Amino acid sequence: MKKLLELLDIKKILIILTPISSLLLVISFLIYSSTFNTVAQRIDGSDNPLSSADSLLQDDEDFWTTTESVFEDVYNSSASGSILPVLTNPFSTEPEKVVYLTIDDGPDPKSTPQYLEVLRQYNVKATFFMVGATMERNPHLVKDIDSEGHAIGNHSYTHNYGSLYANTENFTEEILKTEEIIYSLTGKKNKIFRAPGGSPNMRKTELLDNLNELGYAYFDWNVSAADTAPRGITKSQVIYNIKRESKGVKKVIVLMHDNHRRMASVEALPEVIEWFKEKGYEFGTLNESVEPIHIKWKAQKSKTSKTVTEAVYQSGN
Ligand SMILES: [Zn+2]
Repeated sequence: MKKLLELLDIKKILIILTPISSLLLVISFLIYSSTFNTVAQRIDGSDNPLSSADSLLQDDEDFWTTTESVFEDVYNSSASGSILPVLTNPFSTEPEKVVYLTIDDGPDPKSTPQYLEVLRQYNVKATFFMVGATMERNPHLVKDIDSEGHAIGNHSYTHNYGSLYANTENFTEEILKTEEIIYSLTGKKNKIFRAPGGSPNMRKTELLDNLNELGYAYFDWNVSAADTAPRGITKSQVIYNIKRESKGVKKVIVLMHDNHRRMASVEALPEVIEWFKEKGYEFGTLNESVEPIHIKWKAQKSKTSKTVTEAVYQSGN
């Protein structure tokens, strides 16, 4: 009987204690999460260095995502036949077989020195189309590129399609700002431009007119390393792409990218150079007097209309 009473007591105690302990658990959880939120807010604050590094990385991701999507658009259209590379008569001063290596979006603290090292080893000169804001962050690399005899081209200030191509004011401002950066670092004005994503992005005719007024020649490419493929790419794929697209082409402008997250092209470069040398190509750098290669843009055939609008993009603009 005594034992039974004891048991009952224990049950009573348990009945009282269970809700109390649950309540305590809830309270301690609430205290913990409010503390955690405060810490999280502090990390998000604009004065925190972690936060600015993070936002830079985020911007960079956006930059690449945009690059890829337009890049893909161009190539998808190319496969369907609506965008065709136009190869114009080369200048008589150009060698019979010539390759222009173009390296876009740099400079980059990791990949640029590697590009320079390979180019130095093979005594080959290339053309670096660089972004103004990126040059401001790495001025010493711009000077290295220039002092080693490579050509430097204008690739806009922000590489942000939304603002760059929005109107002529933005477009002009970005080109002139980048021109000024190149001039202040090298003392040179090589008036060559590569449109981020390719010249079909300048399909508003006023942008092209503006580029002409500024005295710029613009260059697309007819061979691509395709090193911005969203799922990444290997060194051997880069070599394969370049060899395949260059087959039978006497004047080649190769597109590669200068970015620490896209290292396949710089890794492939020694073999790419050896292959072009073996095939009898000479290596050139771009300047205003080289006859450009432009991607010819045609509007997609409308599903509702039979008319096909042909754009005015011809070489020599
Ligand atoms: Zn670019």
